[in-house]
Amino acid sequence: MLGYYMPTTIYFGKNCVKQNGSAMATLGKRACLVTGGSSSKKNGSLKDMKEMLDSLGIAYTVFDKVESNPSVETVRNAAAVAKEFGAQFIIGIGGGSPLDAAKATAVLCTNTIEDEALFANAYERPLPVVAVPTTSGTGSEVTQYAVLTNKKVGTKMGISTRETFPVLAYVDPMYTMTVNKRTTIYTAIDALSHAVEGYLSRKASPLSDMWAEESMKMIGRHLATLGEPLTYEGREDLMYASLLAGVVIAQTGTTLVHGMGYPLTYYKGLDHGLANGVLFPAYMREMTKWESEKVDTVYALLKVRNHEEFTQQLEALLDYHGSLTDEEIKAYTTLTMPTNAVKNTVGTITPEVVQELYRASHH
Ligand code: NAP
Ligand code: FE
Repeated sequence: MLGYYMPTTIYFGKNCVKQNGSAMATLGKRACLVTGGSSSKKNGSLKDMKEMLDSLGIAYTVFDKVESNPSVETVRNAAAVAKEFGAQFIIGIGGGSPLDAAKATAVLCTNTIEDEALFANAYERPLPVVAVPTTSGTGSEVTQYAVLTNKKVGTKMGISTRETFPVLAYVDPMYTMTVNKRTTIYTAIDALSHAVEGYLSRKASPLSDMWAEESMKMIGRHLATLGEPLTYEGREDLMYASLLAGVVIAQTGTTLVHGMGYPLTYYKGLDHGLANGVLFPAYMREMTKWESEKVDTVYALLKVRNHEEFTQQLEALLDYHGSLTDEEIKAYTTLTMPTNAVKNTVGTITPEVVQELYRASHH
């Protein structure tokens, strides 16, 4: 079976908001911008968007309180602001956190529902969402997923339906020129984990594999030197790769790395990309048991000789030395097992396997 669904209109390249902003004219006359605390004010993205909205005669309000790994409380606050303003569409500007928050805000604008219904995806059509990414990592601009911190359950959980994709994505690599070294590394590893997990997912198809292979090839050009300053062309490669990888996971879902990473972020405070990177080598070792040919292709596309070289490169980039107790490993495994991420993973993923992967990642 081959399925493919990608409803987002994408504009990619320098100055794409200025050049193609008029595509927003059909979405309404009032918008709510959802963004983080400061970066969008410094990298030009918020200014470009405001100028475009002014020129289109679209009124707007700004909610700029989205934290990393946004909570349900935050998106409820954003929805209250958007509703009060009478927003007809939502514009997310920033890293994955503001983009995901924008999607959840759009759902809560048209649905008065409890958290249980939100996470069960029991809601009607959300407001349209426009996404302007400013990191090269999540691919959220072209996915249906909004990942939220759910304090009631004690982990991160996603919402998604066919209607939570952004309708429009403006992807301008210039906005990522200000991303610091650490976030550049973590977000690139997140994008890489999307491409690789999607490639090795049970739901991978020949069509999603084409996007995944291209994404891995682009990231492979920069993997060894991610910690060094990047040119605009380098930033463009990474943003393109992260966009492609977003299209991949929109089809395939994410797998074990993401499922196991969420508790590390929630309980240990690891950035999303760092959590993925820490778990990545042990996951790849497990995957060689089930998909050895595809794993070899991954390494070839990344231009690394073998598993050891891949592991060394990641370890050098991440410089992580955390540890976990047996109790923590058991608790995180219990949180991981029921997730779709486990269902999407090839092989036989038992609680023992998950525990072993946590252990191997924290030697
Ligand atoms: P983020 O949490 O959105 O942002 C991390 C940091 O980078 C923030 O401090 C932010 O500052 C800053 N930043 C953003 N853009 C910048 C720029 N252009 N220049 C300088 N600093 C900048 O990080 P992220 O890795 O992009 O997103 C992670 C979130 O996305 C997680 O919650 C993860 O679970 C989720 N995710 C979603 C998907 C999906 O498919 N939807 C996939 C993977 C991950 P400000 O706060 O000031 O903006
Ligand atoms: Fe991710």
